[in-house]
Order: sequence, then C-alpha cells, then structure tokens
Amino acid sequence: MIKLALFSTKSYDKEYFERFKPQNKVEVRYFKASLNEDTTELAKGYDAVCVFVNDEINRPVLEHLKEQGTKVVALRCAGFNNVDLDAADELGIKVVRVPAYSPNAVAEHATALILTLNRKTHKAYNRIREGNFSLERLTGFNLHRKTVGVVGTGKIGKAFCEIMLGFGANVLAHDLYPDEELKNMGIKYTSLDELFGQSDIISLHCPLTPETKHMINKESFKKMKDGVMIINTSRGALIDTKAAIKALKKRKLGYLGIDVYEQEENLFFHDHSENIIEDEVIMRLISFPNVLITSHQAFFTSEALEQITSTTYQNILDFEMGKELKNEVKK
Ligand code: NAD
Repeated sequence: MIKLALFSTKSYDKEYFERFKPQNKVEVRYFKASLNEDTTELAKGYDAVCVFVNDEINRPVLEHLKEQGTKVVALRCAGFNNVDLDAADELGIKVVRVPAYSPNAVAEHATALILTLNRKTHKAYNRIREGNFSLERLTGFNLHRKTVGVVGTGKIGKAFCEIMLGFGANVLAHDLYPDEELKNMGIKYTSLDELFGQSDIISLHCPLTPETKHMINKESFKKMKDGVMIINTSRGALIDTKAAIKALKKRKLGYLGIDVYEQEENLFFHDHSENIIEDEVIMRLISFPNVLITSHQAFFTSEALEQITSTTYQNILDFEMGKELKNEVKK
C-alpha cells in the first residue's frame, strides 16, 4: 500500500480523491496546508506527495522530502513551473503530472471571460436584480469577423481556436510548433508581433517559461490595437501586471480577463472576504470596470476533476509497480 500525502486539500479534492481511490492500494492523508519549506515535515513517512499549482516544490523542499523518504511528487495539474526539476533529477525524486484533464474546460472558460467582458452579462444580472432595465453602457461587439490571436496552440489553445472558428472569427495563432490540422481549418500562423498588431482579442495558452515570462509588457502593448482585449487563463506571469494597469489607465488595453495572476499564491483558492487584502496591485485591477478576474477556476468542471483524480492515482500506481511513467516531467 503506497502512502500519499495530499497538500492544499479543498473539500472538492477530498470528495474526488475519496470517490476514485483504488481500494487497498493507496492510503491518503489530506492536509489543508500547502507544501512549502515550512510544511514539508508533514510529509514525513509518505512515499508520495500530491500537490497543486501554488505549492512550492523548490530545492530545499525536495531535499527535505528526500531525507524523509518521499520518492515521487504527483502534480494534480498540467503546469509544472513550481517544481525545481533540476533538483528533483539530482535527488532522484520522480515528478509526474496530469498533462491533459479537460482542455475544453479551460478553453470554454476563456470564452466565458470574453463574452462576459464584451456583453457585460455580469452587469446586466446585477442591474436587473435592482429593477434597472436600462441598456445604457452595455454595448458590446460581435465576435463574428473579429480577429482573435491565440498564443500557444497546444491542447487548450487548439480547443479555443475551434470555439473561435465557430463564432466566425478570423483566427491568428503563434506557436513554436504550428499545428497542421489547425492550418487546414483556416487558422493562420504569424509572428508574435504580427499577432499583437492585428488582433482585437489576444488569448494566452502557452506555458510559463523564462522565454514567455512577461510576454505581455510595456513594449508589446505599443504594438497592439487601441482597446485590445487580453485573456489569460494560462499563468499569471505571462503578463507584466503593472504594465497592464498602465495600459488600462491609458485606454490602450480595453478589456482584461484573467483567471491567473502573478501573485496569486496567497490569494487564490482562499476566502479573504473578512480580511484586509494587502496586495495593492490586485485591488487596483479589481477597481477597473473592464477587468474580470476569476481565481484559477478555468479547469474546474466535474469532468476535469474526474480526469485529474484518476490520472493522478494511475501515475502513483505506475510508480509503485515500477511501470514506465508516461506522465513523467523531466528537466
Ligand atoms: P500544451 O503543452 O498542450 O500546449 C502549450 C503550447 O504552447 C504548445 O503547443 C507549445 O509549443 C506552445 N508554446 C511553448 N512555448 C511557446 C512560446 N514561447 N510561444 C508560443 N507558444 C509556445 O499545454 P496546454 O494543456 O494547452 O496548457 C497550456 C497552459 O494552460 C499550461 O501551461 C498551463 O499553464 C495553463 N493551464 C491553466 C489552467 C487553468 O485552470 N487556468 C488549467 C490547465 C492549464
């Protein structure tokens, strides 16, 4: 029986991990705490740890895990920018992930952000509850024939491109590895600068890497159309948030929809409704009428939770049985 310590547990994690637990094969202990240098001790005696996007699996954490006997880190997400892969490799700790749980879930959420920002359904909902049936300041624009630029056409970007084609948008894309099928569907691959220059809406679907960090910055805003809409469901640090605030103030950035935020670690997934929020940057963002923020919920559908849970258990059992780790993340 492999022993698993699951960090950053929320009620829905426990619900799904209990429901899909392989009987008599895995013993799970749930910790509400996130995994970081202060909490690694909790994993003592556990063969595997299961972590999420905001756990910090850096070198000191990995060294401590190794000392305590943990052999595998199972990410219950696709992104792995929060793991020091060099350190894991040196220490002989395996890292596995869930490469795809529901690309459609994230692509559909990106679409929800676009439609809400554009058609202002969130404002209409509140207005009508107060008996205000006016249409003043609710004007939107058609997506049909607009140019949508998609950065990163992997699993999520591709699903998103297909949705945008359904709206009759003209879709431009940028990726290091263009997708032939998308090209055949009429999607045009361009340079990043050309995509910035021509798009009415830009949606980010590439991973966070040293090359993509702050790809949306002061300089890139200069290349974009006035009033451009930017959607980020990928990773917060793809956008230089302070530059985005300046662009919003100058009306260069017309709409911003984000499901991820550079400094989300201490905010997202927690209820801060009774706290004083110290983060001035997010408070400034919240104050704009044309900014929509969700707290990393793009993946959050029942289909995705099922896939995350079953793949995570399979990854851990494959490790336990010495099978090939098809979802291993290597440096
Ligand atoms: P994927 O690996 O299938 O696709 C990523 C694509 O980005 C690939 O085609 C890759 O070639 C491309 N890419 C890499 N570097 C690039 C660059 N410099 N410029 C342009 N393209 C580049 O990944 P995916 O499953 O589509 O996920 C994309 C991202 O979405 C993940 O990295 C993750 O950060 C994020 N994500 C967010 C949520 C959420 O709930 N908000 C959920 C899952 C994934």
